[in-house]
Amino acid sequence: RKKVNKITTGSATLDQLLGGGVESMAITEAFGEFRTGKTQLALTLCVTCQLPTSMGGGNGKAIYVDTEATFRPERIRPIAERYGLDPDAALDNIFVARAYTHDHQAHLLAMAAAKMAEDQVCLLIVDSITALFRVDFSGRGELAERQQKLGKMMNCLIKTAEEFNVAVYITNQVVADPGGASMFVADPKKPIGGHVLAHASTTRLSLRKGRGEQRICKIYDSPSLPESECVFSITEQGIAD
Ligand code: ADP
Ligand code: MG
Repeated sequence: RKKVNKITTGSATLDQLLGGGVESMAITEAFGEFRTGKTQLALTLCVTCQLPTSMGGGNGKAIYVDTEATFRPERIRPIAERYGLDPDAALDNIFVARAYTHDHQAHLLAMAAAKMAEDQVCLLIVDSITALFRVDFSGRGELAERQQKLGKMMNCLIKTAEEFNVAVYITNQVVADPGGASMFVADPKKPIGGHVLAHASTTRLSLRKGRGEQRICKIYDSPSLPESECVFSITEQGIAD
């Protein structure tokens, strides 16, 4: 039986909220508006996953499927230095692949699984899981097909996570939710992907902006974690308290 591994986010309070960190054999989804820190958390995890398990790492490499061309290699250096890792070696341990269509994304995820069979990989990032689906299925009558393909991809992801004891971290956008309007929230937002993503993601994190570089993370709809929230910051050295 494989042992669940927890990878540190760089923030002690966020780790605590997650029950130790981002878990292997599970899918952790972070959703929120533009600039809420979804990608910065992904970049931090790409480095911390390389640490030994005694330091909150996964003792392995990362695969980063980038759908919006937001991966920044130069962001890895200061994060690696924070943890005493050689920046060039840390960057070499991150396999970045740019996806251009949802089909290409599915193909890259199949290749990622093949890579895991031959290399020590402990983290798989898909940033973002839904962006290309929105582009490729933008028509009114295409929602059912989009959801079906998205569901299939999520099934592949959970299978990969379990088979290779890998932590899967995915990002997602939000859209206005007219049906969710209340007197307390002027402009409620909900994650894209409907029940397909809701069912497939093990842990869902709702990110929003706080003061300055602070961000607020809230556990969303979890069957096993309390619906609490915490504050973390985005720094030059990655996610921190
Ligand atoms: P998204 O949720 O859209 O993926 P990002 O993860 O890219 O958002 O977060 C963008 C934010 O991260 C910026 O608004 C900025 O506040 C912060 N940020 C980006 N790079 C740095 C850096 N080098 N130092 C400090 N903060 C940074
Ligand atoms: Mg981003």
